[in-house]
Amino acid sequence: MSPIQTFQCPTCKQHSSLASDNPWRPFCSERCRLIDLGDWASEAHRIAGEPAAPSDTQLDEDGFNQKW
Ligand SMILES: [Zn+2]
Repeated sequence: MSPIQTFQCPTCKQHSSLASDNPWRPFCSERCRLIDLGDWASEAHRIAGEPAAPSDTQLDEDGFNQKW
């Protein structure tokens, strides 16, 4: 029997106790959770930012179309 279960923090790869009342699971700490969320946010930001540039170009083309 092993009453103490452990998990591996996806951010720092450190093993932490799952049995402890850890509000940051599946991370070992708030810091690792924020780091992971930051990575995810920057990924999402990069994906959301890419269509922004072509969108600007389309607006310019729309302006040209309105001329005639
Ligand atoms: Zn960690």
